[in-house]
Amino acid sequence: MSPLPLYLAGTWTSGRGEPLASHNPVNNRVLAVVSTAGAADVDHAVAAGQAAMRNPAWRDLLPHQRAAFLHRIATLIERDAERLAQLQRQDNGKPILETRALVASAAGTFRYFAAVCETMEGDITPSRGNYLSLSTWEPLGVIAAITPWNSPIASEAQKVAPALAAGNAVIVKPSEFTPLLALELAKLSDEAGLPKGLLSVLPGTGASTGAALVAHPGIAKVTFTGGTATGRAIGRVAAEKIMPVSLELGGKSPNIVFADADLDQAINGVLFGLFSSQGQSCIAGSRIFIEESIYPAFTAKLAERVTALRIGDPVSERTQIGPLITPQHRDKVEGYVTLAREEGGRLLCGGTRPVDATLQAGNYFMPALIDGLNNRNRTAQEEIFGPVGVLLPFRDEDSLIAEANDSVYGLASGVWTGDFRRAWRIGRALNAGTVWINTYKQFSIATPFGGNAESGIGREKARDGLKAYMRQKSLYIDMSGRPIPWAD
Ligand code: NDP
Repeated sequence: MSPLPLYLAGTWTSGRGEPLASHNPVNNRVLAVVSTAGAADVDHAVAAGQAAMRNPAWRDLLPHQRAAFLHRIATLIERDAERLAQLQRQDNGKPILETRALVASAAGTFRYFAAVCETMEGDITPSRGNYLSLSTWEPLGVIAAITPWNSPIASEAQKVAPALAAGNAVIVKPSEFTPLLALELAKLSDEAGLPKGLLSVLPGTGASTGAALVAHPGIAKVTFTGGTATGRAIGRVAAEKIMPVSLELGGKSPNIVFADADLDQAINGVLFGLFSSQGQSCIAGSRIFIEESIYPAFTAKLAERVTALRIGDPVSERTQIGPLITPQHRDKVEGYVTLAREEGGRLLCGGTRPVDATLQAGNYFMPALIDGLNNRNRTAQEEIFGPVGVLLPFRDEDSLIAEANDSVYGLASGVWTGDFRRAWRIGRALNAGTVWINTYKQFSIATPFGGNAESGIGREKARDGLKAYMRQKSLYIDMSGRPIPWAD
């Protein structure tokens, strides 16, 4: 299989790195081989990005003209939506209903930031003299966007759309496991007529291409989504460069069920919150706190429902659980089930490879629930990033909050209760960037998203998501027409 070219400064070309194979997690067969970028390609992409930003054809565009490019990209994503969703299913292993939603969300993200770009305003600030004082916003420069494998195209859109809308150039480094959708996005941007050089897509490993991008002196900001260890390493480089960075990192989110909740609704929410995307989600509600009085009945019902989840080929619209991304990742998830047992946990369901002969070639893992642990156990503290949930009983609100917040992470959380005052109280007390009340994993591009503590720095989405790719400039304009008296 000859390597697919990468998208370097508006041209399709062979990169100078070692080609990488992307595998279909359903059977681990090679789906595509892609060319990867070496350090010289990174240099070229950065220089081209800087030149494209300086070019009046981009620099002097009015906001509504820049927005038109984003609208065109959105329209092309919508035109190719089914093809993109099918490709992503093969590249990543998520069930087709989920990949369709991700593609739709990517188009929506481009449209949203087109609108934000067109409607963004600066400020006339109160002056303290006979001058006009203004605060305006300008682009930062060339942005490095580094993304993980779990939600391709949606993750890339979440960075590329606001970065372009703000007037920057962007270089995307997709995950080595899922490079294909970022390359598709490059094709569509090219077709949309985006001026060449403004977008490059450079597949490669994090250790080579990713690290070269982060360290490059011409990169004005890194926007990163991925694991906390990688985020910390990028943060160190950013500190040396005095470079802004946004970090969307890991999580170990509590999903909390009170006895007064609508329990049918809560069960569906716990299932969806943890097991959609096979649990490979930063916001997975993987610590499930259940009020003591309903603990036995709720956990029994939950385990019954987990056992009934439909595991299978992601091509089917009925499939709820597809394969994990790689055999190595499945080993890691399996290792956590072993650890849970060593820590004294009891497996209520799943936690093994399936016996079904049709699933043997893929990285499948039966969704698991574990009880008998406490919140301090490693299984309850570390991000597993797979279909494994820890069940934890709680007695009262104070002990619940103390335990739910006892985590290095602070990304998301869920609260299930019929009492709106309690929902408000608990929602305010939880250390999390997002709290869902009687729902879970719902997203609006118009609502900020991001983590507290080791779940990251900064927020994406929403109107201020554009400003994350801009810096403020203050202007003072004399209105007196007279010389400054000091110099007389
Ligand atoms: P990683 O941190 O391993 O990788 C993320 C990206 O960073 C990949 O493109 C990777 O390259 C790259 N990378 C790795 N090392 C470096 C480096 N030294 N310099 C620059 N780039 C580097 O995460 P995963 O891909 O395994 O994704 C899973 C993680 O992402 C989980 O922890 C999850 O919680 C988190 N995540 C967070 C989200 C959020 O919004 N908060 C959303 C989705 C996921 P490569 O893999 O190609 O080597």
